[in-house]
Amino acid sequence: MIEAKGYAAQSPTSGLAPFHFERRDARPGDVVVEIAYSGICHSDIHQVKDEWGQSMYPMVPGHEIVGRVTAVGADVTRFKVGDLVGVGVMVDSCRVCANCKAQEEQYCEKGFVGTYNAKGYDGVLVHGGYANNIVVDERYAHTLSPKFEDKLAAVAPLLCAGITTYSPLKHWKVGPGKKVAIIGLGGLGHMGLKFAHAFGAEVTLFTTSAGKEADAKRLGADEVVISKDKAAMEAQRSKFDFVLDCVSAPHDLNEYLGLLRLDGTLCLVGLPEEPSSVNSFSTVTNRRSLAGSMIGGMRETQEMLDFCAEHDIVSDIELIGVNKLEEAYQRVVKGDVRYRFVIDMKTL
Ligand code: NAP
Ligand code: ZN
Repeated sequence: MIEAKGYAAQSPTSGLAPFHFERRDARPGDVVVEIAYSGICHSDIHQVKDEWGQSMYPMVPGHEIVGRVTAVGADVTRFKVGDLVGVGVMVDSCRVCANCKAQEEQYCEKGFVGTYNAKGYDGVLVHGGYANNIVVDERYAHTLSPKFEDKLAAVAPLLCAGITTYSPLKHWKVGPGKKVAIIGLGGLGHMGLKFAHAFGAEVTLFTTSAGKEADAKRLGADEVVISKDKAAMEAQRSKFDFVLDCVSAPHDLNEYLGLLRLDGTLCLVGLPEEPSSVNSFSTVTNRRSLAGSMIGGMRETQEMLDFCAEHDIVSDIELIGVNKLEEAYQRVVKGDVRYRFVIDMKTL
């Protein structure tokens, strides 16, 4: 086994504390990765606190991982020792179902194996990226452009916040001539602004935070609407082709469905712990669709990383040491993240 150290939660209320554990020895198809940086996703917080009701402890969170390959199994072909590598939300899937074959492994019919808070198909609990190393099958690792070398910390959030916004914007063909709304300026939302802008759409941010307007414009928004302002919301009614909802807490979906014009789609990527209720009148008006999207497949995640390298897109981050985890979690929950916390693993 490979010795590992990181930070783990022991229960929904324990918080995170230092934790020593073991990773599996590298199988023939595995790479061993020394983790340099790990992003903090709001999904980590939902799961550490068991807000989705399916948490397994001890839990080492983290699924926005970048680092360097330190060893490779005998059958590995895509990586060699020293290569930069990224690991996201999945570390395995069945590989043979229709969705895996279509390279949409996030919708694997058997259920993909998450990077943490999940059991591998061998029944062993797996641990995530708030740690010094990880062992992963090369099929579930991404190559990173050498262009990322000097901004690696800001690349980590692309592995979840990046792909989770890139994938639906691509799927619903967001581009020139399309009017797009991003709801919530946090980790996902700020990547949503960057991608929608890069794809050539006209982009409006809807935010509950008045203080984020200037940042939103810098990140790619053409317009900013404060969603608490009823008159401002009313003025935006039936104007948008596509709305991407990146909100982490319960909120009224009917308000945002109302933004859609004929045949528009509201896509949920945010995963609040409470269910929402939809008034049928909100969808029958303008033949609106309510949809959802989960991360992205391995092929599309690689495509997104390559797009970011080519277009010089990374996340806007605050780099922290492991001693600041508690404070970072509190700030994310308050909506006070600018716009992703990333942990420097040298501080472990
Ligand atoms: P985050 O950084 O905390 O951002 C969430 C943003 O939502 C906040 O910054 C805030 O933006 C807004 N917000 C918070 N409370 C709100 C409320 N009560 N009403 C309206 N807006 C509110 O979180 P994140 O890491 O981007 O993740 C967002 C959500 O996506 C989480 O639920 C996460 O679990 C989920 N997620 C889903 C996937 C997927 O595959 N579908 C992948 C990753 C994450 P403003 O201040 O601008 O209002
Ligand atoms: Zn995530």
